[in-house]
Amino acid sequence: MNSTHSGVQPERSRLAPISQQSLDAKLGFTWPAPESRKRCQRCVYDEATPAITFDENGICNYCKVHDEFEREYPTGEEGERRLREIADKIKIAGRGKKYDCIIGVSGGCDSSYMLVKAKELGLRPLAAHFDNTWNSAIATENIRRMLKPLEIDLFTIVVNNREYDDLYASFFRSGVTDLEIPTDIGLAATLYQAAEKYGIQYVLEGHSFRTEGIAPLGWTYMDGKYIQSVHAQFGTQPLKTYPNMLFFDFMKWTVFRRIRKIRPLYYIDYHKENAKKMLAEKYGWQWYGGHHLENRFTAFYHSFYLPRRNGSDTRLLGFAAMVRSGQMTREEGIEQIRKAPEFDIELVELVKKRLKFSDEEFIRLMKAPVKSYRDYKTYKPLFERLRPFFWMLYRLDLVPKSFYQKYTSKSEV
Ligand SMILES: [Zn+2]
Repeated sequence: MNSTHSGVQPERSRLAPISQQSLDAKLGFTWPAPESRKRCQRCVYDEATPAITFDENGICNYCKVHDEFEREYPTGEEGERRLREIADKIKIAGRGKKYDCIIGVSGGCDSSYMLVKAKELGLRPLAAHFDNTWNSAIATENIRRMLKPLEIDLFTIVVNNREYDDLYASFFRSGVTDLEIPTDIGLAATLYQAAEKYGIQYVLEGHSFRTEGIAPLGWTYMDGKYIQSVHAQFGTQPLKTYPNMLFFDFMKWTVFRRIRKIRPLYYIDYHKENAKKMLAEKYGWQWYGGHHLENRFTAFYHSFYLPRRNGSDTRLLGFAAMVRSGQMTREEGIEQIRKAPEFDIELVELVKKRLKFSDEEFIRLMKAPVKSYRDYKTYKPLFERLRPFFWMLYRLDLVPKSFYQKYTSKSEV
């Protein structure tokens, strides 16, 4: 185990150097009341959601997408039948191999539940984890508690912590708000590398549109060249241990190796609260207080950084999904967003310390104008030129429809 795992959760009891209120006063930040924005009459998305439209009844376009998904991915008996079909395909492709599928694990609820489900389906998963050295102690412990009784092996890629902090700092300095994409790309590359190493065809993702929602298209943009160009401009040390995904890698894994990503939870009436209860009772798994909060930088990003940089509240994603699927009422959802996401001031201090920002520089960067991926070199122009090629890949089921729609379109989505 990497020594950086010894970093424990910041303790609340220690005297914080600066209070939350005084920090927000310095940033000139106030949280808007939910009533101040036009909001979908069915879910909780509001007019600030990228690419949102409302119909004559005040229902948003994302609710329509949710209903389309409900029709496309039935649960119940039909869902079970389709899931068994998928499991059979995976088993056939994995014959004679040590493992037949990869499952990315974070210590979170969805990926932990996915491990249990895969075993129930009779699959032989290999767990894969991208350790960006910011894991919370609970997450690391959760991974261990799940894998041992389920007898699942773990493939891990650990980055050098100084290198990764430099990468985070470079994104911070660049002015774009896509600070977490190095982790998303690093995880994707880790899953593909594990699949390639063991000749595995399938990657199972613990994503459910019923609990995690449908991400607005313009929410974030990511690709390996974007990471390279931001880091080349603002980083101070070379990327040696970071698993990036450049165009060639992406093509190799999706087109030549034909490694496919599957989301089995789409066929299950996945209920988050029930899943948490089962995981806690059966495996001693622990809840860490919120979606995405299993990683300390991710927690900082969602609870502190994003609301103050561009006013986005990513809790809306999950709340909207659970309202649509009946796991939460709309009123409960709105009540939850009345207050800004709670953040741990110690976490802010930890980010400043590890990224080597003085108080002044940190405040300056937090208040700097927001830039877009279009201000940096990315693969977007290449993806746009190759639109017909990606249409073909989508038809061959080698890239997801969402990739084709978002990454190859010239319009701002
Ligand atoms: Zn809606």
